[in-house]
Formats: sequence, structure tokens, C-alpha cells
Amino acid sequence: MKLIDPHIHMTSRTTDDYSAMAAAGIVCVVEPAFWLGQPRTHAGSFEDYFLSLVGWERFRASQFGIRHLCTIGLNPKEANSASLVAAVMDLLPLYLEKEGVVAVGEIGFDDITTAEERCFAEQIELAARAELPILVHTPHRDKVRGTERSLALVRECGFPAERTLIDHNTEETLPITLEAGCWAGHSVYPQTKMDERRMALLVKQYGSERILINSAADWGVSDPLKVPKTAAVMREAGIDEAEIERVVWRNPIEFFTSSGRIDASEFEEPVSVDQRRLWQGNSVLRGQTPAVKEQ
Ligand SMILES: [Zn+2]
Repeated sequence: MKLIDPHIHMTSRTTDDYSAMAAAGIVCVVEPAFWLGQPRTHAGSFEDYFLSLVGWERFRASQFGIRHLCTIGLNPKEANSASLVAAVMDLLPLYLEKEGVVAVGEIGFDDITTAEERCFAEQIELAARAELPILVHTPHRDKVRGTERSLALVRECGFPAERTLIDHNTEETLPITLEAGCWAGHSVYPQTKMDERRMALLVKQYGSERILINSAADWGVSDPLKVPKTAAVMREAGIDEAEIERVVWRNPIEFFTSSGRIDASEFEEPVSVDQRRLWQGNSVLRGQTPAVKEQ
């Protein structure tokens, strides 16, 4: 079965991860712009980061046969960096137009501050203007309140629920996300938050409509193979193949093709691998024999 990881921060992962993901059947990733573990001190650092998401990281994924898409936005944590917000917001319209950008995100709430809310609302407006869907991060602390406030804000802004993906859902937030008509992402982490078994139970209870799963893997304790591992646990739990395929394949395609930037038929074509290629003169190889797999 072919799989998509619709929320993963590959910038902080290794080429071993790309190889293992490709071997496990992952053919496409969506990398949302987020923070780097510490706040940036210059707006220019955001610009270079956005450039790497649409440039080097996209190339790096291609070198392992994985299609790389991304979302661009000012993340909720750094929406609180008062001196940088205006300059970063000014950068966004340009980067939202770049090839491979399929949503505005991740936006939303972290500490649920006034600054976060202002930035969130402004980026919903930007998404409406750019005709892109939105990817909404929900807070780790006070998740239910953060999710309710996010859903209310999306509604107040008049933004369509069917173009909204609320991410990092749990048992407590999934019902309200589905009820609101939004898509529901789930981040499956080692040890904390959602795990494979709990995710399988949710699919048994709620079905597969508008439900997505991701690894949200980044520089923290996380596992880039959580999508294939969760698919395997869902299979063991007796969930039928069509339902699993909908969660790990058809739903992310349907949501992100609503951007109008990509076509569902592109996902049927394998990405050819040519490690002889360079990106601005640079290769992922360190003297190894280039792999070449023409499709
Ligand atoms: Zn994330």
C-alpha cells in the first residue's frame, strides 16, 4: 500500500529516515513550516527557511523517490515574537505562491495568546486570498480549549470547514473537529499523545471520513515511520483495507489537491530517482555511487 505522511518536518531528519520511509511505502510527505526549537531572531531566518522548504528539502526528498510538498506560514509559537511578526507576515504572500506549497500552515494556537489569535486570523485571510487550504496546529496544553477556539475563529473568519485541517487531535478533540465539518489530523508519537492502538480504536469508532494520520516527526523524540506502523496496527485490529487506504492515502490527497496546486493523478506516478543530479551544485552523496531509478 502506498502511503503519505501529511505532517513531518524532514529538515530535521536524516537521509536514513528518507530511505526507511521509502522502503516502508511512503511516496509523499507534506512538510509544514514550523519553529526550530528556539525562536528565530531575524525575519531573514524565516525567509531562508521557507527557501529551503521549497528548494533543498524538496530536492533531498526526490533523491530517495519521495515527493515533497510543504505548507508555509508563521507558526503559533513565534507569533509571539512581537518584533518579527510584521516582517514575516510581509514575506508570506510571495512564498505561498511557490511551487509545491499546498496550504497555509502550520498556524493556530500554542499558548492561546492575543498575539497568536491575531496572527492566526490574518493568515486565514491570506489563505482565502491565495485560495489555499489551512493546516491548523492545536496546542499541547489546554488542547480542548485551543481546538474549540480554533474552530470558532475559522467560522468567524468565514473560512470553509472543508478546506481546514485541524491537526494533533486526540479522543477529546476529534468529535468536535468532525462535528465542525473540518478534516482531522492525528500525530502518532512514541510514548505520548496518540499511539497506534488508540488511533485504530478511533477509526473503528468514527470511521475513516476526513481522518488523517501523521508522524509529526521533527528534532524531538518522534518516529518518521509512524504512518506505516499505524496502518499495520489498524490492519491487525481488523479494519478493512479500503478504510486504511482512505486514511493514509486518499484523504490526504483529497485535502491537499483542494489547493488546486497539484493534481490527484500525479500521485499515481512514481518519482524517479537520479542521484547524479545536483541542487545548486550540491549533492546528498558523499562519494557513494549514485542510485538511478528511471520510471
Ligand atoms: Zn508540526
